[in-house]
Amino acid sequence: MPAGFYAIPIAKINRETSDAVSITFDVPSLMAGQYQYKAGQYLTFSAIIDGEEVRRSYSMSSSPVTGEQITIAVKEVEGGKMSTYLNRNVKEGDVMDIMPPMGKFVLEPSASAANHYFLFGGGSGITPLISIAKTALQEEPNSYCYLVYANRDEDSIIFKDEIDALAATYDNFKVIYTLDNPKGAWMGHRGFLTKETVSEIARQELGLNYPVAQYYTCGPSPMMDV
Ligand SMILES: Cc1cc2nc3c(=O)[nH]c(=O)nc-3n(C[C@H](O)[C@H](O)[C@H](O)COP(=O)(O)OP(=O)(O)OC[C@H]3O[C@@H](n4cnc5c(N)ncnc54)[C@H](O)[C@@H]3O)c2cc1C
Repeated sequence: MPAGFYAIPIAKINRETSDAVSITFDVPSLMAGQYQYKAGQYLTFSAIIDGEEVRRSYSMSSSPVTGEQITIAVKEVEGGKMSTYLNRNVKEGDVMDIMPPMGKFVLEPSASAANHYFLFGGGSGITPLISIAKTALQEEPNSYCYLVYANRDEDSIIFKDEIDALAATYDNFKVIYTLDNPKGAWMGHRGFLTKETVSEIARQELGLNYPVAQYYTCGPSPMMDV
């Protein structure tokens, strides 16, 4: 095993969409301290694929404060080494080489905070954002979370049931889906996120004033440029 990595077994694999899985890990209790994390952090994986060592990072979709086991979600990239391997080849009980959590794209929750979090996600970029949303909703009862989540079509929305359940549970959470290419009747937003669509969503749907919010964005590079 490469230096800095530890062997962690896979507890559960859940197919989220036709091209994305979530993978839950059973961190041994002796290593629990090393694998404590903050919402927004990621794990780095090492695997031998076709005879070569491949290292890639995946953000936690689980929240550190809700009692969930540590979970990532991986969207298969066409021709992608690790994402294809994680979607098609690993199974429950397999042991993976994983580095402890890292990353500065984090939420540091505070019970007395009253923030407006504006979360923009595209595709697999939802993973750190749903972790941040769950954490803020649990730890900051006076804060608001607005998630704008862009996808190709309805079938490719990862965690739709979980996100809709959060929206049904918390009055201070609102989600707006936008689809590039909806398949059937779709009453929601359409098209890529641009500066204009983002401003319109913020003002009309959420009644938000830009300067008062904190922003977390995670998605493909054209979206990050917005
Ligand atoms: C901090 C961090 C956190 C991340 N978190 C997640 C996560 O939670 N979930 C997740 O699914 N991914 C996440 N990623 C992306 C992930 O690390 C890999 O880059 C991705 O899975 C592709 O790796 P691969 O080995 O399958 O593809 P590779 O073999 O590296 O690439 C194959 C081909 O696909 C292209 N390609 C690579 N990535 C993408 C992409 N995202 N979209 C389109 N084309 C691409 C490459 O240019 C290349 O042509 C994260 C990346 C970072 C840096």
